[in-house]
Amino acid sequence: MFMRVLNKWIQKEPSKNAITILKDRYFLKDGEGNYLESTWDEVAKRIARHVAAAEVNYTNDVEEIKNAEEHFYQLIKSRIFLPNSPTIFNAGKTMDRQLFKKDIEETTLEDYKTIFDSRTKHNMLSACFVIPMDDSMNAIFDAVKNAALIMKYGGGVGYDFSVLRPKGSSIAGTGGKSSGPISFMHVFNTAASTIEQGGARRAAQMAVLRYDHPDVFDFINSKKDNKGNNVLNYFNISVNIDNPKEFKKMLEEDGDLTLEHPASSIRKTIKANDLMNKMVENAWKTGDPGMLFLGRHNQYYAMSEHTPVTATNPCGEEPLPPFGSCNLGSIDVAKLVEDMDLGNPNSDDISEFQEIIYWAVRFLDDVIESNIYPLKEIEEISKKQRFIGLGMMGLADALYIKELPYNSEQARKFMAKLTAELAYFSHIASTELAKERGNFQDFQRSKYPDGFIPFPMLDDEIDEDIKAWNEKIRQHFQGEATKYKRNVQTNTIAPTGSISNLADTSSGIEPNFLLSYVRYMTNKEGDRVPLSYINPILMEKIGTNMTEELKAEIIEKGSIQNIDSIPNEIKKIFVTSMDIPPKDHLLAQHVIQSYLDASCSKTINMPKSSTIEDVKAIYLQALELNLKGLTIYRDGSLETQVLTSASKE
Ligand code: ADP
Repeated sequence: MFMRVLNKWIQKEPSKNAITILKDRYFLKDGEGNYLESTWDEVAKRIARHVAAAEVNYTNDVEEIKNAEEHFYQLIKSRIFLPNSPTIFNAGKTMDRQLFKKDIEETTLEDYKTIFDSRTKHNMLSACFVIPMDDSMNAIFDAVKNAALIMKYGGGVGYDFSVLRPKGSSIAGTGGKSSGPISFMHVFNTAASTIEQGGARRAAQMAVLRYDHPDVFDFINSKKDNKGNNVLNYFNISVNIDNPKEFKKMLEEDGDLTLEHPASSIRKTIKANDLMNKMVENAWKTGDPGMLFLGRHNQYYAMSEHTPVTATNPCGEEPLPPFGSCNLGSIDVAKLVEDMDLGNPNSDDISEFQEIIYWAVRFLDDVIESNIYPLKEIEEISKKQRFIGLGMMGLADALYIKELPYNSEQARKFMAKLTAELAYFSHIASTELAKERGNFQDFQRSKYPDGFIPFPMLDDEIDEDIKAWNEKIRQHFQGEATKYKRNVQTNTIAPTGSISNLADTSSGIEPNFLLSYVRYMTNKEGDRVPLSYINPILMEKIGTNMTEELKAEIIEKGSIQNIDSIPNEIKKIFVTSMDIPPKDHLLAQHVIQSYLDASCSKTINMPKSSTIEDVKAIYLQALELNLKGLTIYRDGSLETQVLTSASKE
């Protein structure tokens, strides 16, 4: 078992910050609000045991189940791998605590069966859902109810509003006129705000509308007065441009676009450039709308001919068909890079990383069985296709450790190789599991038997190692993968907004937003005390040269680029989101997305001084790369921003 890295991390306790988050959100409580847990160890054991119990479906050999539990426990306890939040706070919930307190040696097959059989609606473990609606009142309000059930247990929901007829269309039966998709988005938003009060965490939703829907301008404008949290605040919005290359051509030719809808006689002709300009202008103002390229999602989705994806989850990383769900998990690559030569196809450590990925994939596949689904339709398609999303976090910190500037060609090659390696071993693991447990039910109808590769890959010429990964990937998909595949999709890179804090690492594939910040904590006496944080890898790098004065300056600025006493070599490596030109954010997304069968969460950060033209340049460039969508954020464009450095507070 991957002993070397495990031994290093398993003893390391989560930071104060991580413990605070655990207390706030993840430790189980009884009905009166008393804590049932107080350590990370208990949480790790609870998750590992609940999920391993799913293996009673495959074996009667208790040693085999214990072996799985032990691997899951070690991965989670060491925080080398963490599942998405709903798995952390809902696994084992409302079950008999004694079953989770037993030592693993004393745990019996009956105990695992009891855990499996005592699952209730409280044990919803997935983060991502897509809920469909039809163009009828009944169906719309059914969707509101279904989404409410999901959000109550901490899942995020996406919807395609394109099916709703445009505002002003006739309604048969009443003689009235439809109020259009945007009016219904407000209904979903209000429902989300109500659920939040009793739910596990802030509700989150994604609304998608096709670029040729007659209400597309209303959609694009629906959040234009947002100043942070005041308009459709439980929604991200994205315009679906099915074919980005075709759209680019239309823009270059200054072509016309017809807006129409099958359920309406409304038809409008507009200039494609007017649509683009409006999207860009509003994105410059508030970050919304983003773009989504569902055609490309479907191109790389093995079941698109039967159940095309119609929307994504709230943060955009998980495209799903109607009623689709996905559970995510992330490997903290920053914890591995010192000891493993990640991304190198000829490395001696390759089998250790492969083993970590195998157990992470097996864990996520077990989550599909140990999950309780909010609706039978969701359970059905989730089990037929078995979506899982293994991704990574800690990329920015890993690059600091490897001394590769995030915005360099060298870093991009590393990102590509690392993601290729993740994708390759995840798919190998899914194929191994299929041999033991069977293919996903729809496998024969999917594109896999034809040798389908579920992502575009980068050009072979770029680098010898990339060429080697591409070759391995081709061999896999033309060979064993034509017969065995347990999961329709395997790789998703989540924002890891909360779990990266639990892991004390940088989030997802994003650069660090700040190298330092001040957080206010309330002490026992009820006083607010400032807690300052400086990135520990930077602290180590500066070493004994870190004076109190320098610390204060770093905390003040959040970035080191304008600090004279710090050498240039260090400045180059320790870059933050705002230190990097937007184009380099985009290229990072491009290389990483080239190896993902699902997608990734990535924000293209832009400086406050960016003009509308600068935003447009990014929107246009995005249409040409291997991207599945685009989200930009111009610094300071919303009044409420997640993090600001001390000087900006
Ligand atoms: P975490 O770190 O808590 O596991 P992420 O920030 O990685 O979560 O988000 C992953 C996905 O989880 C999102 O894309 C979304 O589908 C869902 N999600 C995130 N935050 C929320 C929230 N507050 N409410 C509901 N779903 C959420």
